[in-house]
Order: sequence, then C-alpha cells, then structure tokens
Amino acid sequence: MSEPLLQVENLTKHYPLASGIFRNTLPVIRAVENVSFSVEAGETLCIVGESGCGKSTIARLLMRLVEPTGGRVLIDGTDIAGLKREALHAWRRRMQMVFQDPYSSLNPRLTAGQIITEPAENFERLSREQRNMLAADLLQKVGMSPEMMHRLPSELSGGQRQRLGIARALALRPSLIIADEAVSALDVSVQAQILNLLLDLQQQMGIAFVFISHDLGVVEHIAHRVAVMYLGRIVELASCEVLFARPVHPYTEALIAAAPVPDPTRVRLQPPVEGEMPSPINPPTGCAFHPRCPLAVERCRIEVPPLVPMADGRVVACHVRAPATDVPGQPDVAANSSPQTIAGLGVL
Ligand code: ADP
Ligand code: MG
Repeated sequence: MSEPLLQVENLTKHYPLASGIFRNTLPVIRAVENVSFSVEAGETLCIVGESGCGKSTIARLLMRLVEPTGGRVLIDGTDIAGLKREALHAWRRRMQMVFQDPYSSLNPRLTAGQIITEPAENFERLSREQRNMLAADLLQKVGMSPEMMHRLPSELSGGQRQRLGIARALALRPSLIIADEAVSALDVSVQAQILNLLLDLQQQMGIAFVFISHDLGVVEHIAHRVAVMYLGRIVELASCEVLFARPVHPYTEALIAAAPVPDPTRVRLQPPVEGEMPSPINPPTGCAFHPRCPLAVERCRIEVPPLVPMADGRVVACHVRAPATDVPGQPDVAANSSPQTIAGLGVL
C-alpha cells in the first residue's frame, strides 16, 4: 500500500500552566493526548468536537507552529520535526492553512492581488505581469472576478474575504490544506458556497483537506472520514457514512442527535451534550467522557479506553460499546444492536 500523504502518530501537546524553575512540577494543560490518524492524497478528514477539545492545537502542530510534547507528524513518510531549513521551506509549500477569521489574517493595507500572490513571491520573484496573471487566475479559481484584485480587504464581504484566504492558500498548489473553522464565521448560505468551492477545488486539483469544525452539519457535507475528539483525544474515527448512520461512541451519538437538520431557518442548538466539557488541566480519570456518559460503568472511571478497531473499519474508544477484549474481526456488537436512546444525555 502506498504511503499516506499525512501520518500523525501519538501526537501529544501539553502546555505548561506557568513557566519558571518549578515548571516540571506544575500542572499542565493537556490540549492533545496521543492522537493518531492519517490522510490520503485528495482526501478530506474532518476533526470535530466541542470548543477547547484540542482541534486548533492539532492544526498548529501539523503546521509546526508549535512543537509537540510527544509523537510525530510525517509527510510522505518524512518526520517534519527533522526537517532542516531547505526541506522545511519545500514542505511549507505543500501544506497551507485557511483560518476561521479571514479578516484578522489578511493584511488590511494590501490589495487582494498582493495578498494572494504574497506566498508565491516568498518563493520566487514575479514580474508585475506575472503577478497580475497569477492573481487573476487565483481569483477566478475561487469564483471571484479578476477586477477584485485591486480591492482592499475592508471593501470585501465576509464570504469574499474567505475566498481570498483560500486563493492565497492555493497560490503554491499545495497537496494539503488545513482549514480551521474556515466557514464557522460565515452565514449559512455563504457557508454552503464556500464548502462547495472547497469540494470543486478538491476535485480539480486533488487537494487533501484536514477540515476542522465544531459543526457536524458542515462536516457531514464534505468529509470522507471523521475523527471525533473529546478533551484532547480521538474517541471515534470512521468514514462519514458509517459515522452518521451508526455512531458507536456515546459522545458521537449525542453530537449527531443534537445536530439540527440542515435548515437555515433553524437555530443551531448549543450545547449538544448536557454539562460542560471538563478542564484539560485536571481531566477525569479513566474515560474523560464518563462524568457525562449515562452508559458509564466502573471500568470507565478507572481505565482510559484504547481505540479499538471494529469490523466496519472504524476505531472507537469506549469500554461499554467497544470493549478492548473483543477479538478484531468479530461481529460488531454495538453496531448490530438497535440504537439505544441515552437518557440523560440531554440532547436539547
Ligand atoms: P479547540 O480548537 O478545539 O477549541 P484548542 O486547541 O484551541 O481547542 O485548545 C485546547 C486546549 O488547550 C484548551 O484548554 C486551551 O485553553 C488550551 N490552549 C490552547 N493554546 C494554548 C496555549 N498557547 N497556551 C496554553 N493553553 C493553550
Ligand atoms: Mg479552535
């Protein structure tokens, strides 16, 4: 089998709560714990979970904007931690990021044309003519008119600014785009346009996406596979169809049950699960979800559940629904049982 484009192995990030000589003895924020996944070329992996579960930290680790406490990130089989200047430069061309708030990430004094050609100019000198051609081409790719290249960010709508952020990410023809809450700040109708744009670009250019969102409705629209995170860990990872048709982890189940039907007139109801996500400074023992989980048994309070592969290809970390003692390949007990209503999970 060919190597995945992106391979993440046991990635962990602890932020120290304070710096100083007592650093080693002070508590840490366990933002990301032992996260592993892979992304194939041209694939969209969505990472979903409530605010504070570690999604943006994963994005920063992938872009090497922060150093991991543990684990590895491999691109085409090469560990990015070991990359020296030149290789790092070449790798940065292949991986680009699109942010939630395009306005704060766009220089207000540069024109749209300057903004989207800037990444390319970091790699090669462009003549004025080349720059204009590139800007026009990129604007067209994201469904904007080439004349827009003379506008300032303040003269554009939210949706246009996000298109600009995408155009800038496309400038270096990346293999992978990491989009962190890229449509979360947009109106629902504009969201749909941007998601369709991303799908088109993926088909035309074969780009892989790590698409991060707290919104399952958005995820269902574009994911090939979905990783559900809770308090720094992946609790379930499955193909999009499998996950939405038959969630196994009680947390996934509650998130899906709480996600409103796609209807722009309906207000998204928050929070999806009763109670607050616990603090990553002092996470619950055992399964971090156990204080909110109506299925929790004694074992859940003691042991961290490992991610167990199921017969349908997904992995799930749940002592009750996916006990680790199950022999892989055995019929998927949880999936075969009728969906259980979880009383008390507070699906609002
Ligand atoms: P998400 O994107 O899912 O909302 P984040 O990755 O931003 O979550 O944050 C995960 C946890 O790590 C949160 O508890 C957050 O407060 C903490 N955190 C994020 N960045 C830092 C940082 N630079 N320093 C300390 N704590 C951080
Ligand atoms: Mg975030």
